[in-house]
Amino acid sequence: MPDAIDLEVVRQMLPTTPYGTGVREIRPPVQFNDDAFEGMLARDPNDHEVWGIAYNGKSRPERQRFTIAHELGHFILHRSRQQSFNCDKQSVHTGIDTLRDIEREADDFASNLLMPGDLLRAWISSQRIDFHVLGDIAKRFQVSLEALCIRYIKFTTERAILVYWDNGYVKYEWRSGSARRTRARIRRNGDPAEPPLGTLAADASITQEWDGTEMSAAIWCPEEAQHMKLREFKHTFGARDRVLTLLLLESAEPRSWDRSWQDEESFDSFDQFVTNGQLPDRR
Ligand SMILES: [Zn+2]
Repeated sequence: MPDAIDLEVVRQMLPTTPYGTGVREIRPPVQFNDDAFEGMLARDPNDHEVWGIAYNGKSRPERQRFTIAHELGHFILHRSRQQSFNCDKQSVHTGIDTLRDIEREADDFASNLLMPGDLLRAWISSQRIDFHVLGDIAKRFQVSLEALCIRYIKFTTERAILVYWDNGYVKYEWRSGSARRTRARIRRNGDPAEPPLGTLAADASITQEWDGTEMSAAIWCPEEAQHMKLREFKHTFGARDRVLTLLLLESAEPRSWDRSWQDEESFDSFDQFVTNGQLPDRR
């Protein structure tokens, strides 16, 4: 798998680079199996030139990789501030807005390390996107489909919206830059929101739709013109109570009469989503 970064090489090399000044060794990651726990980075109390990483060995292999990359992010970015970092499931993988800055930064670092932007941009710009294509790219990078989709949303020039549903309610929502510029937003039918009626996401009899189903964009996004279409994709995770929805909308001109999106542009890229209506949505 030449496209996938070898984290073992990164771990071993780091102390020899300027990013590892003052550190002799990062020990090989060890498993620590606890349901509430995803990963940890800690300094050896008996030898301050040594650091160690632990990860949840019950997680799927792609998540373990992401977690180790996240802990390497703490090592590079934050080790001068703390002696140890305990990362639960919420802090790793989603990058959602309610997290502390250092957790979002570590997620961002992991995404960048595992899914280099130049490769990703080249792959997604050369083909028509569906879940098969994104799933193949996720395999090449050895990351989860969810992690790849979050990264895809940041790079695509298409109008795209990604929604993660947990037990039928929205857990987080990400919009691509052009989706935000054209004010494409999904229907808010509650707090937290549920999938709108008439969508694949609302249809419990459909667990997977990787080819995409075309429908009127207004079913999802009430502010879209009636003639606009979108393609809806659905992936249900093994546990069935968690669903990933990807919406790819027809392109549209930015709504130039509304300049508010320009303010959004100055926010950090991790501030792009709205979650559970808890956050101001920066209209
Ligand atoms: Zn962390």
